[in-house]
Amino acid sequence: MLQDKDRIFKNIYCQDDWRLAGARRRGIWDNTKALLEVGPDKIIDEIKASELRGRGGAGFPTGMKWSFMPKQSDGRPSYLVVNADESEPGTCKDREILRFDPHMLIEGCLVGGFAMRCVAAYIYIRGEFYQEAMHLQAAIDEAYDAGLIGKNASGSGYDFDVYLHRGAGAYICGEESALIESLEGKKGQPRLKPPFPAAVGLYGCPTTVNNVETIAVTPTILRRGASWFAGLGRPKNVGTKLFCVSGHVNKPCNVEEEMGIPLRELIDKHCGGVRGGWDNLLAVIPGGSSVPMLPKHICDDILMDFDSLRAVQSGLGTAAVIVMDKSTDLIEAITRFAHFYMHESCGQCTPCREGTGWMFRIMTRFVKGNADPSEIDMLLDISKQIEGHTICALGDAAAWPIQGLMRHFRPVVEERMRAFRGRQAAE
Ligand code: NAD
Ligand code: SF4
Repeated sequence: MLQDKDRIFKNIYCQDDWRLAGARRRGIWDNTKALLEVGPDKIIDEIKASELRGRGGAGFPTGMKWSFMPKQSDGRPSYLVVNADESEPGTCKDREILRFDPHMLIEGCLVGGFAMRCVAAYIYIRGEFYQEAMHLQAAIDEAYDAGLIGKNASGSGYDFDVYLHRGAGAYICGEESALIESLEGKKGQPRLKPPFPAAVGLYGCPTTVNNVETIAVTPTILRRGASWFAGLGRPKNVGTKLFCVSGHVNKPCNVEEEMGIPLRELIDKHCGGVRGGWDNLLAVIPGGSSVPMLPKHICDDILMDFDSLRAVQSGLGTAAVIVMDKSTDLIEAITRFAHFYMHESCGQCTPCREGTGWMFRIMTRFVKGNADPSEIDMLLDISKQIEGHTICALGDAAAWPIQGLMRHFRPVVEERMRAFRGRQAAE
């Protein structure tokens, strides 16, 4: 369990003032100039050594991503884009940083932007985050007024601007290349990759897109040292992580914990346990709606990190833990997700545009049981036709929850069909 001395996020429940005075009390903006004085390359080396992996869901190594940015300008400016379009169902961790500790993010923008030789950071915040956008803008204004960003940012001799851009409520704009398109004023549709944003990003310029939590932790890593961060958690899955636990627990919460904490410990220590006790657990979605669910017997001793969860055909994703007890209709829950992905598909690629609709309609019949068991394989076949055959990860995200349901709970789906047929025969 994470000790208080190793906690990076000290204000996720707004125990203290979120404005500049409170941020300074918590050590944010403490001699930021000294962090920059080591130079861009040393900062990237330190972030690489810390083994920080992206906190947006994919877990790509942050230092490596930063190192893809050009060291010499070819005439194009470089940009940092912060993905604050947090929309993954179950996920509400970046929200707490944005509204209760916005200066952590702004200081992280300066440090990361400097390391990647960027002229500015654009923070793309989801449209529904109105209060968060107000707090963030107020904090940006405070940072400009105090000389922390802008011309000669924090007395470093380096000029760096931070802009806030509000989205308009499209889940797909959280996909990094759709986000870039949207920032450019176009329809938010993902681009084909490669080229990755470091080569061709915002306005055709070198760009790195990072998640809010990823950027927010970087000043603390630099202050406390890469080895401190890398010493927490487990090999290749290091550091601390914000978990958002919702669903059938006694006390849903956001909590920072050590990467690799056992799921059961996370739920028992921070959430007052599963409603009705651990034995009443049916399944858990460990990383937001895009990752497959896990049945109780796997949850009993699974560790919450990228590699442990991948090994059981799921994922850490956004670390949004959705707990479902035995009262849950799992078929209905996954159908709700299927509707979500159908609704949010941008429609660019046929497998996703058409397939998400097919999957939703089939799942709707599965909820009632009004289907033939052979259709389960047909549904799985459709999900395989989508998976890996689309421009962006939304197609996979739509397919995986359904695959997870069938992998672990196929007999429940079949039983629903048998019961439906039995009722029909009796009528
Ligand atoms: P991805 O694996 O395609 O990419 C992750 C990051 O690494 C991107 O920034 C990408 O540019 C970079 N990258 C990957 N390969 C690269 C290469 N060869 N060269 C250079 N850069 C490379 O994943 P993704 O589509 O960005 O994200 C998928 C994840 O997003 C899912 O796991 C899901 O959990 C998560 N997600 C999060 C939210 C949210 O609200 N935070 C919403 C939806 C999905
Ligand atoms: Fe759009 Fe879906 Fe294709 Fe992504 S996978 S580009 S959301 S149609």
